Amino acid sequence: MKWLLSANGRTREFGPTEVPTLTFADHERAAEHFWSVMADRGARFLPERLAPVFFSTLMESIAGRGDPAARRAGLVVLGRLYRRLGLYPHHGAVIAAALVDTVRRFAGESWKPELANIWEQGCLRVWRSAGQSAGMLGDGPQVTFGVVESVVSACEGVAVVTVRPVRRLRYTPGDAMPVCSPRLPGRWRWLSPANAPRPDGTVEFHIRAVPGGAVSPVFVGQVAVGELLWLGPACEVGLSLPAGDADLLLVAGGTGWAPLRALVEQIAASPVRRRVTVVVGSRTLWDLYDAAVLTTLRQVHGDWLSVVLAFSDDGDVDPAAQGGLVGVVLFHYVPGQAVLVCGPPQLIEEARTWLPIGGVDPGDLHLAVTFRHAFDAALWASRQRTATSTATSTVGEASGGEGGDRRPEEAS
Ligand SMILES: Cc1cc2nc3c(=O)[nH]c(=O)nc-3n(C[C@H](O)[C@H](O)[C@H](O)COP(=O)(O)OP(=O)(O)OC[C@H]3O[C@@H](n4cnc5c(N)ncnc54)[C@H](O)[C@@H]3O)c2cc1C
Repeated sequence: MKWLLSANGRTREFGPTEVPTLTFADHERAAEHFWSVMADRGARFLPERLAPVFFSTLMESIAGRGDPAARRAGLVVLGRLYRRLGLYPHHGAVIAAALVDTVRRFAGESWKPELANIWEQGCLRVWRSAGQSAGMLGDGPQVTFGVVESVVSACEGVAVVTVRPVRRLRYTPGDAMPVCSPRLPGRWRWLSPANAPRPDGTVEFHIRAVPGGAVSPVFVGQVAVGELLWLGPACEVGLSLPAGDADLLLVAGGTGWAPLRALVEQIAASPVRRRVTVVVGSRTLWDLYDAAVLTTLRQVHGDWLSVVLAFSDDGDVDPAAQGGLVGVVLFHYVPGQAVLVCGPPQLIEEARTWLPIGGVDPGDLHLAVTFRHAFDAALWASRQRTATSTATSTVGEASGGEGGDRRPEEAS
């Protein structure tokens, strides 16, 4: 089936469909139109300021672009908005009608009457998924905005982007959150804060431009100081600090170091002392983007923290530092340690296969979720449910403070 939808005559192929490529200005106007159609029909639940986020995320989810992780990120955003705005399945009808009206208006000459049903059904399908996502996620951190405070090129293809959220973000070290640049509205990608929550509220993201990627090259090469980013709700992604005082082996490939660095900061601030070994893998010395911080951490916390570097493809470094990450991890593994692994999907798969074979107790192995396998994603979903029910039974969040972020006016 082909959808021929374009405000400016250009279309973008995606799988069996063609989806609209709207310019940023078109997009803003389309989101405004969508919002006013709903308002005209008496549906006033959507704050105007959130209309671009809501509309573009819905459009992207209907188009189904992106890998499973990206699609899940979009659904997390929609799910939390659904919950926050107090929506129900029956709201799907008015939302779908406004969306079809908007697409019809902005599709220009490419509009065909038979497309109305396709968009309507796509919208209702996504709305059902958003409702399920809302039920799974429960209440928690909301979608908000942040201003880019600095962008530092850390090495070829990696940027450290510091963001000042307009309101304090609620997250735990090791979490990841959907992040979106309005340059590519609705195209959310998971990123992991690289710092434990700071007094000034700023958050550092370490972002690698994946060659051929749709979004990461924009984060790394185009997003500039002063720009706005959209920030989705932080979620647990398999890297929470295990309870107790077991020693830790933290294994990072590339920017997988980001959430692990946040964990090291959390441990440094905690009264519980546990020995921590960090193994950071990169291809060459030039790809090791956070060397200065690693050196400082090692110097300051040398009584409990060791740092091991592993270069998979650099014959010029100390032979002791040469080798594949998994082999180096097994060399440093001590039974009883909790092993947390974060990095590109290929590293996670290698760790999943080889670390248990090499002797790591599967019960002690904590892998960052990639959303690539149904089982992986199902486990992630069940952890969100558990986290939600625990939070609900222990904290009266709705009473105010950071947890009481349900009201639409708090979006800004
Ligand atoms: C829980 C979680 C946390 C994450 N945290 C971070 C982070 O802190 N910093 C960061 O830079 N990235 C992080 N990512 C990856 C990020 O969300 C994007 O997937 C990545 O930036 C690629 O997006 P893209 O739009 O450029 O590529 P896409 O257009 O989505 O994909 C292009 C191709 O690259 C592949 N690909 C996707 N991700 C990667 C990857 N990480 N390495 C190699 N190939 C990949 C895809 O399978 C696809 O084939 C995280 C992912 C998850 C699931």
